[in-house]
Amino acid sequence: MTTAAPILLTPGPLTTSARTRQAMMVDWGSWDDRFNQLTASVCEQLLAILNGTDSHHCVPLQGSGTFAVEAAIGTLVPRDGKVLVLINGAYGKRLAKICEVIGREFSTFETAEDEPTTAADVDRLLHADHAITHVALIHCETSTGILNPLQEIAQVVKRHGKRLIIDAMSSFGALPIDAREVPFDALIAASGKCLEGVPGMGFVFAEKHALAAAQGNCHSLAMDLFDQHSYMAKTGQWRFTPPTHVVAALHEALLQYHEEGGLPARHQRYANNCQALLHGMAELGLRSFLPAAIQAPIIVTFHAPKDPRYPFKEFYERVKAKGFILYPGKLTQVETFRVGCIGHVNAADMRAAVAAIAQALQEMGRSELAREGR
Ligand SMILES: *Cc1c(COP(=O)(O)O)cnc(C)c1O
Repeated sequence: MTTAAPILLTPGPLTTSARTRQAMMVDWGSWDDRFNQLTASVCEQLLAILNGTDSHHCVPLQGSGTFAVEAAIGTLVPRDGKVLVLINGAYGKRLAKICEVIGREFSTFETAEDEPTTAADVDRLLHADHAITHVALIHCETSTGILNPLQEIAQVVKRHGKRLIIDAMSSFGALPIDAREVPFDALIAASGKCLEGVPGMGFVFAEKHALAAAQGNCHSLAMDLFDQHSYMAKTGQWRFTPPTHVVAALHEALLQYHEEGGLPARHQRYANNCQALLHGMAELGLRSFLPAAIQAPIIVTFHAPKDPRYPFKEFYERVKAKGFILYPGKLTQVETFRVGCIGHVNAADMRAAVAAIAQALQEMGRSELAREGR
């Protein structure tokens, strides 16, 4: 087990299939028609996942997910716009930071890391400040795994005549989002999360009229989604050097996504992973941070063992030696660690991960575990 490639239980980069990695063994030219067809096919398939073909454009962008978030804010929020950023974790804070750095006026509304933003909160905030033009929301806040009520918030934003920007990076492809029922100007996701591609590109589903009206908004050449989309619509090519291998891997990952049964099947597998993980960890006496009702089946935050003999680094290394890569916690108040449920892994892998965690704790002299003979 120590010699095999480790299983990443991290929410991106994550474990990919051999078939997806194999798809990267070809060098593509950016002028190659077949490569440009790959890009077009990827965008078409991505739009179909959220029923957005009629209403939205899919604009892919080189870089990690944050690049696409920054591009969406920079392109779709006019320079005199104002963004209400809803925060209950690190990714919400990053979104506010983006507004600050690129010079868009913004206000923030922050709840505790285990407390979803509610539609009533948003209703009240929009009543109180008419200068707000856009609301920005993290769907699944990956810093804990908390799920925010997207559908309800989207309806409130629409009722106020405001625009919604959704960071659905860690939920798109696994949790249902229907563009015909959830009104939004932009929804942002990336290649290397629930679609199980490799990291390297993001994509923004931009509402067609909003994108058409966004010319000249962007502060940046490379981040300009209006320009990126116009160029691609005209030429079929990426505006600057495309992440060819990432596109090819994502195309192959999408074939497997459909073979598996699309979103319902992906959602079910991740839900099974999450259940297996929660169940196994509860048996070890490790408590999850969030109550089940607001826990998305994407990533689970666990309280670290209350034990002076628990340094995360040693724990991480011991679990890694058994073939599993965990994720450190991202909370300021309590000591935690995180285990991802997404990627090319199943419930048996999760049970094996729990067994590795049990062994690691036992090696570290966690007496109660040793006493229980686990
Ligand atoms: C992964 C992720 C991002 C993007 O992070 P990068 O490190 O830039 O890929 C943004 N938002 C959320 C909620 C995420 O899970």
